Amino acid sequence: MNVKNIWKILFPERVVCVACGRPSRGELICEQCQDELDALRLDGTVEHASYRYDGAAKKLIHRLKFDNVTAAATVLARAVALDALKLHIAPDTVVTWVTMPEKRRKERGIDHGQVLARAVALRLGLECRRLLIRSQENPFRTQRGSSKARRLRNLQGMFAAEENLPRYILLVDDVLTTGATTETCAACLRAGGAHVSVLTAAKVVKNLEG
Ligand SMILES: [Zn+2]
Repeated sequence: MNVKNIWKILFPERVVCVACGRPSRGELICEQCQDELDALRLDGTVEHASYRYDGAAKKLIHRLKFDNVTAAATVLARAVALDALKLHIAPDTVVTWVTMPEKRRKERGIDHGQVLARAVALRLGLECRRLLIRSQENPFRTQRGSSKARRLRNLQGMFAAEENLPRYILLVDDVLTTGATTETCAACLRAGGAHVSVLTAAKVVKNLEG
């Protein structure tokens, strides 16, 4: 039995909190984690992210990314969907995500970006489909430490847009670090003639340099 199945048995949905594992009184997350989330809430219309990447928000993203707990996406999608409404997205908007490399998707079992985008689309009553093709594997194992300009250059050529794009697209991603990946993907979709809005579940907010 793999780790993902063990997690599901130990922490069935709505019995314990999907973020911290404590009893949750029939809710997906416990009161304490909800309070934490409320304190981490950002203005998605300004920050392009619903939460600061910390505490319960970080835990939810880890559950989704590393334990394949799709219920964590359901919780995160509540705030992302609210932010999408605040952005007054068009009623015929199609929700999409930053496509994961096929090899990694096979290793992990799910494309967590797709799971999150689907959860957001479900709350908004919108269509969700893949609009980005991962055209090659990332030649750099890690992008940590490289400058944003360099990361953007490295990312060019990694993504291609599907043909016949919808007019309005909401690109949903899990974590915004430098924004290089989402910017590249949004540019790719815009080059195909679409109007693109970008929202992420959480954003890495660093303290001032020093
Ligand atoms: Zn909790």
